[in-house]
Amino acid sequence: AFALGDFCTFPNEKQGSAWAGPVAFVEAAVRAAKDAFPIWSSKSPLERSQILNKLADLIEHDLEAFAQAESKDQGKTITFARTVDIPRAVYNFRFFASSILHHMTECTEMPSMGCMHYTSRTPVGVAGLISPWNLPLYLLTWKIAPAIACGNTVVAKPSEMTSVTAWMMCKLLEKAGMPHGVVNVVFGTGTKAGEALVCHPDVPLISFTGSTLTAQRITEKSAPHCKKLSLELGGKNPAIIFDDADLSQCIPTTLRSSFANQGEICLCTSRIFVQRGIYNEFVKRFVAETKKWKVGNPSDPTVDMGALISKEHLEKVVLHGKAKAEGARILCGEGVDSLALPSGNQKGYFMLPTVIAEIKDESCCMQEEIFGPVTCVVAFDTEEEVVKRANGVKYGLAATVWSSNVGRVHRVARRLQSGLVWTNCWLVRDLNLPFGGMKASGIGREGAKDSYEFFTEVKTITIKH
Ligand code: NAD
Repeated sequence: AFALGDFCTFPNEKQGSAWAGPVAFVEAAVRAAKDAFPIWSSKSPLERSQILNKLADLIEHDLEAFAQAESKDQGKTITFARTVDIPRAVYNFRFFASSILHHMTECTEMPSMGCMHYTSRTPVGVAGLISPWNLPLYLLTWKIAPAIACGNTVVAKPSEMTSVTAWMMCKLLEKAGMPHGVVNVVFGTGTKAGEALVCHPDVPLISFTGSTLTAQRITEKSAPHCKKLSLELGGKNPAIIFDDADLSQCIPTTLRSSFANQGEICLCTSRIFVQRGIYNEFVKRFVAETKKWKVGNPSDPTVDMGALISKEHLEKVVLHGKAKAEGARILCGEGVDSLALPSGNQKGYFMLPTVIAEIKDESCCMQEEIFGPVTCVVAFDTEEEVVKRANGVKYGLAATVWSSNVGRVHRVARRLQSGLVWTNCWLVRDLNLPFGGMKASGIGREGAKDSYEFFTEVKTITIKH
């Protein structure tokens, strides 16, 4: 068996031992997780819950250090890391520590046959967890917490772009009382460490959050093993703004939904449909507010938007914002106000929030996920028309509807092909309820009941008496 520490240090920290490569690292981590499974899965939910709560307390105690590290590693603002990323990572552990205590199984009776049936749930085994770079600890713990709460052991692979907070969390596991081998974190690239995990015969379950393209490869690679898969993928999320919307609420929220975390959230709005009667007013006010957003040094607490994750990603986003706007009008941001970047930031991976108008629905900008601070705004006339246009993309993750007509809000929400619909708000989450996407945005859902069902196997037992 391998000690926990073998899997929670970066390779170059391992003094005196040669780095055997990511595949060997995954192999050893899976073995450790497999060895730990019998002990961990036989603990009571209450014992597991106590350890999860302790880990939450320890991360919360170090919140500032975690937030600083997340901001430096990812480029997000320190304010976002302090108020969103790390508090949510803490809450993920607390939430599943609590919810695991309250699940019940089903029972039915069949008196005519002298039978009763009941269901029993057991953990699956070693869970492979793969997460992206945009909300590093937040999304990794959203997987680790339910997996271990249900009694699985895990091998988790954070994004190679943002591994620091995962590594910091590993340092707290022992102090939280986590038995060795329950949580193993492997560091490496997707094609090496990620794929070794996906293809490993002793990992029966993969929970993945990332791009649709990578999910397609994971599906292909895991198919021969018939693995359980949960896939949380990209989006091309619409905001639909009717002419009876309260713009004083709608404009600041749509700014946040478009540009929060540099637009690097899968739930960010990237297509804004505005009813024609208020289109001009909306655009004027929205662009004026966008121009007020302060872009710059992520560690400055007054900054609204930090740096994008990498040079390559910045180039991809800029390309979309400019070249692919094909005949469209860029109202503010990249290519229009580039001189407005704060001095000293020109060399970083910064980009101004960009608003594009007069763009065709079929253009790349309106169809492909950009995953950066670029949003498109277009006019519509009728409810029927806007539902069709909002649904006219391959994705179906999140949508926002703005209207004060309650009947319309319900009607439109039900017709949108989207796993999540927020009306007159954005990103208000109750972790009890299902989270996930339709179409190319994913397979499966996460949440109290959904994660419990995914991270356990159910069995129907029939007793004849
Ligand atoms: P990505 O798909 O490139 O990488 C995600 C993770 O998968 C990383 O850890 C990476 O190393 C790993 N990976 C890459 N290739 C792999 C392979 N062949 N086998 C196994 N693992 C592999 O995504 P990203 O660029 O890190 O993140 C951005 C994407 O994630 C966007 O599309 C965004 O919409 C999506 N996302 C979705 C959600 C959601 O909940 N739906 C949340 C956040 C991000």
